[in-house]
Amino acid sequence: MDKKSMKQFEKLLRAKRVELQRAYEEKLSRSGDAGSDGALDSADEASANYNKEFWYSLSDSDRQIMRAIDEALVHIADGSYGDCVHCEKPIQKKRLEAVPWARHCVECQELQDRGLLEE
Ligand SMILES: [Zn+2]
Repeated sequence: MDKKSMKQFEKLLRAKRVELQRAYEEKLSRSGDAGSDGALDSADEASANYNKEFWYSLSDSDRQIMRAIDEALVHIADGSYGDCVHCEKPIQKKRLEAVPWARHCVECQELQDRGLLEE
């Protein structure tokens, strides 16, 4: 995939990530005392805690998307974004436009949905 398209997909991926994160933050603020227990020893611990809470607050499907987004961002960084992780052929652009964090091409996704794909 050319660099320019990759940048566009990176933008989509980051936007989706922010969206998921924001939904979590809203949930936190609705539930009351968000971040008011300043008893944590270090910033590291605070952020570890934050990540854990964040993680558990996500639904299974959001968690999967989040993981796939992070993986896609890694692939953008190493230049392999847009290739099917199974057959390594380029994933159809239409598919990426609909699901920028897709890991499989349509053919392999179909196999995976039927439980026929091993990684
Ligand atoms: Zn494939």
